[in-house]
Amino acid sequence: MIWLGHITAPGMQISREPRDSVREAVQEMPGQEKPVQEMPVQEMPGKEKPVQEMPGQKMPALASRETQTFFAMDTIISMEIYGDHKEEAVKRAMNQIDSLEALWSVTREGSDVYELNHHQGSPVKVSEETRELVSFALGMEQETGGAFNPSLYPVVKTWGFTTREYQIPKEEELQRLLEHTDFQKLQIEGEAIILPERMEIDFGAVAKGYTGDLVVETMKKCGITSGIVNLGGNVALIGQTPDGRPWRTGIRSPYGEGTIGVLEAEDCHIITSGGYERYFTGEDGKVYWHILDPKTGCPADSGIISATIVGTEGNRCDALSTAAFVMGLEGAVSYWRAHEGIEMILITEDNQIYLTEGLDGRFTLNEMSQGIPVHVIKK
Ligand code: AMP
Ligand code: MG
Repeated sequence: MIWLGHITAPGMQISREPRDSVREAVQEMPGQEKPVQEMPVQEMPGKEKPVQEMPGQKMPALASRETQTFFAMDTIISMEIYGDHKEEAVKRAMNQIDSLEALWSVTREGSDVYELNHHQGSPVKVSEETRELVSFALGMEQETGGAFNPSLYPVVKTWGFTTREYQIPKEEELQRLLEHTDFQKLQIEGEAIILPERMEIDFGAVAKGYTGDLVVETMKKCGITSGIVNLGGNVALIGQTPDGRPWRTGIRSPYGEGTIGVLEAEDCHIITSGGYERYFTGEDGKVYWHILDPKTGCPADSGIISATIVGTEGNRCDALSTAAFVMGLEGAVSYWRAHEGIEMILITEDNQIYLTEGLDGRFTLNEMSQGIPVHVIKK
């Protein structure tokens, strides 16, 4: 984790120093090569700065905030929180993120994921958090009809998405690698996990969402009643704004820098997957992005160019944002119709925006995006 400094409200002080293990901690998380600096943008009308106390005026309890920005999980993480024990909450959250990165980094020697990938065929004892993540991922793989599949790691590597030494693999090579991507063949035995021979896993498509869940839980336990935790674009919202309004979160535009619109939401996770996050242009002039279709081993070509999932469980939103990108509009909408508790904003390559009905009235297009058709999908 790299410590990028902090801003605190008057009277607050964080004493956390950069850790000794900075260099070690800058290991890549799977699939998280470059920081996503600008997405989604938080907008808090009238609440940009802590409220200053006026002489003789009692300061509202929620007006002071704690903010923190640092680099971990190969991305920029920022927090803005309100409530009791803010300093303690930030400290605990940062330590928790450090620990989860140490478990789930695909490149850090000794992480649970690294050990599993280097001991296929034998039982590897892993932490409870990793067992939970793996069982959750098994469930999501099944539920999404295989669109979400954490055992594509060898395929992700062969395209060069982990090293940025990009190449278009040969069809035979993809077919050979796809033979070892039946994620359901992974076994959980007591405290151990056994990967089948030649399977390698990475949780780049779900780890940050899961981390968001655990961090929010920790913060709420500490006494945080309101806040935003932004894990490189995966946004977790705690409660409402301190003045009791929904948070306004900018949804990243798939067409370039900046946002396409603003979503009003509270106490939930907002997670987007987009082809623009990491891609290369091949010698054939085609764009190849990092979200792969597990059926072909090639970049998903479903017609969706951005999938945002909104819900109360970050792990689910994260897995589904990746899966929806693979499933395409029809598949994502059927999933939504069959499951409760999530809403979606899907943008298609023919420049249409599809909102599921739970978000109707809560999403507003930016001025620049006026004119893009928005369709509301009913159950
Ligand atoms: P996300 O940004 O959450 O959509 O996650 C994308 C990352 O997950 C990629 O960089 C890959 O490391 C990995 N990945 C790519 N395709 C898939 C897939 N179909 N299922 C699960 N993980 C994937
Ligand atoms: Mg995801």
